[in-house]
Amino acid sequence: MVRTRFAPSPTGFLHIGSLRTALYAYVMAKHDNSQFILRVEDTDQKREIGGATDALKNTLKIFGLNWDEYYLQSERLDIYLKAAKKLVTDGNAFYCQCPPRNAKTDGFSQILRDPCRNKNLDSGAIKLKVPDNETVSYFDFVHKKEISWETNGVYDATLLKSDGFPTYHLAAMVDDIEMKITHILRGHDWMPSTPIHLLVFKYLGGDRPEIGHLSDILNAKTGKKLSKRRDSVMAEDFLKAGYLPEALLNFVMLLGWAPKDNRELYSLEEFVKEFDINGFQEANPRFEDTKLKWFNGHYLRQKSDDELIELIDYPDKDKLRQILPLIKDRLAVLSDFDQLTSFFFKSPEITARLNKNHLTFAIDNYDKMIKGELIEEIKTKGWKVGDFFMTIRIAICGTRSTPPITETMLVLGRDESIKRLIACQAKS
Ligand code: GLU
Repeated sequence: MVRTRFAPSPTGFLHIGSLRTALYAYVMAKHDNSQFILRVEDTDQKREIGGATDALKNTLKIFGLNWDEYYLQSERLDIYLKAAKKLVTDGNAFYCQCPPRNAKTDGFSQILRDPCRNKNLDSGAIKLKVPDNETVSYFDFVHKKEISWETNGVYDATLLKSDGFPTYHLAAMVDDIEMKITHILRGHDWMPSTPIHLLVFKYLGGDRPEIGHLSDILNAKTGKKLSKRRDSVMAEDFLKAGYLPEALLNFVMLLGWAPKDNRELYSLEEFVKEFDINGFQEANPRFEDTKLKWFNGHYLRQKSDDELIELIDYPDKDKLRQILPLIKDRLAVLSDFDQLTSFFFKSPEITARLNKNHLTFAIDNYDKMIKGELIEEIKTKGWKVGDFFMTIRIAICGTRSTPPITETMLVLGRDESIKRLIACQAKS
């Protein structure tokens, strides 16, 4: 049985790295026909952002990452309190009454051995009593190796704050045991805290889940870790920008996991079927915008015109139906639609001087041109057919790369097309 959880803190929108964690956790469980759990870790109330939990749930649903069980940590405070007290009773934790340390004023935020550890206090915050001269280790199922620490370098971490709220170090470990999680999959940021967690697990007793730390996702251009400040990293922003959930999900699947063959295209269902825990990659993947666009273009082209008409935010659905077949192949992101089609709605500004003879000939022979009956005559005039139609493309659309030009003129209509040709002729 493989029971996994996704455990976001409700501090904002869904980071692309968190989407990946959620996806892999979901897929590991579903590949095994087991349960995927959503656990909202809202114990750091100062950092909580109103509405974030609902937004996270909503986004997960959009991606089809549906959970089987749901927990909210702030509703479970008594469980953590009980666990913390037990750790004190067993001699593995102690009460501390020092004021919380502040990294700015104290120079560092944690001290290795807390002065309260041997005072036998009976109230205050509760901290982990880290043993000296021990080694803690675990096998990381993503990195596929044993990782160990000497406890002499591990600090007496706070488990329960004096206000009764647990820290992540306690709440997540208590829950992972209680919820019978078999595999913890989490971001690489948590690696340095792992020795604390291994001790907490040991003292709590019960089965410790396997642990895997996912690689960091890098900005492809700078090679630096994706950052909220510098990069566009929120899944919701990509959706808003016109990326399809299935494309984003497929792209994210391969940011840290690779199949044995070079297959790239997977629906969520296929990924669940083909998933193999050995496919996790240790190397940091790069977030390539062009690759994401490639996936998106692929999934857009899988959609029927009716589905696309639903998705594109444009009021005149009849017009949309006419235009869509002309631009569908060039649509990489839904939001490209406006830019790719602007000339259908507005005469383009033409600044270049165009070949006046081409324009005059096109105006005089418009009906024949539209029927494709002008080719031989264009050649007889000694013009290259490509050059002739390039003049027409630019006059009609204002750009050299356009949908098939005859079809475009048909959608625009005879009057509008001739009007544009005449306007350019006058300027050339
Ligand atoms: N609440 C933690 C976070 O958002 C969860 C880490 C974990 O998956 O254990 O980073």
